[in-house]
Amino acid sequence: MICKICKYEINPRLLLKSNVNFGDIHRCPKCKITFTYPQPDANTLNDYYNGMYSDLTISFDDKKMKWAQRSMQGYLKVLKKLNVELKQEVTFLDLGGGLGYYTKAAAENNLHSILVEKDPVSVQFAKKHLKLENIIEKDLYEFFNSNDKQYDIVFFRHVIEHVNDPYSIIQGISSLLKTNGILIIETDNNAGIELLIKDGVNKFYVDLYKKSFDNVSFINLLIKRPFAVDPPRHLFGFRMKNLSMLLKSLNLYPKEKIHYRLGHPIYWPNIPSPNIKQIIKSFLKLNLRTCFKLILSYMNFIIRKFLELIGLSSGICIYAQKLSK
Ligand SMILES: [Zn+2]
Repeated sequence: MICKICKYEINPRLLLKSNVNFGDIHRCPKCKITFTYPQPDANTLNDYYNGMYSDLTISFDDKKMKWAQRSMQGYLKVLKKLNVELKQEVTFLDLGGGLGYYTKAAAENNLHSILVEKDPVSVQFAKKHLKLENIIEKDLYEFFNSNDKQYDIVFFRHVIEHVNDPYSIIQGISSLLKTNGILIIETDNNAGIELLIKDGVNKFYVDLYKKSFDNVSFINLLIKRPFAVDPPRHLFGFRMKNLSMLLKSLNLYPKEKIHYRLGHPIYWPNIPSPNIKQIIKSFLKLNLRTCFKLILSYMNFIIRKFLELIGLSSGICIYAQKLSK
């Protein structure tokens, strides 16, 4: 077969065999992209996504808004460092942005922000609860085919792992960007092992893979690292090297590359990190059981900070600039 990312003729390596018929997990020996093959058919994917967005009663979540606002400050800081002028007319395109919390946070910072989202329930939420005015209710390909504008910033957060052809999507994004415009792209880190280390998360992931694939054990996952391919949800698992390569091949030059851990204050703020203050407090209250638990959790945190440093944590983010050519 031809690798969908590096385009070499390959003989992919089977990592995990599915026992639920959503596809096995393979890895390209050339670029190490990890992917579902065969891919789930259109009906399976439609069923999965329609089921996911059927909750019409979803209400505004103040915590989610605060997380998005905090993350946005981090993104803007890096954009400033990359000499992007953040004026009112600068366009911020939130592609596949779901409920629109990040679109809202960008608008609060005076960017001309636009949400592109195909799911009608999310769009309804964004209009009603976030009062977003600039919404394009289209799927990515419909949008690429109908769009005739170019944008300054494209924000593509945790979407690429869901699509069935990342190459054509990045190609579409590259054509949307103005020369020198910036793509901010985030996804799970396929090289990471933090998911297996983090207390409270590790069991979830071992069980998740055990449920759908043959011969899964902690050690097996540690060696094979299928993360976070999980059909029909995630069809591709990228790591820094192959995502950078894909971007470069489509005229997007990585300017800033970030590995981040679960609970990173900018990139993954919805998971709390333990701190020394809590440990001292519980110790002074002679709550020794809690104190001991917090110490273990803190040690776990230190190990994960180290994994982040050496590129084995759970998430990656790239800020890539569109070159003239
Ligand atoms: Zn490849």
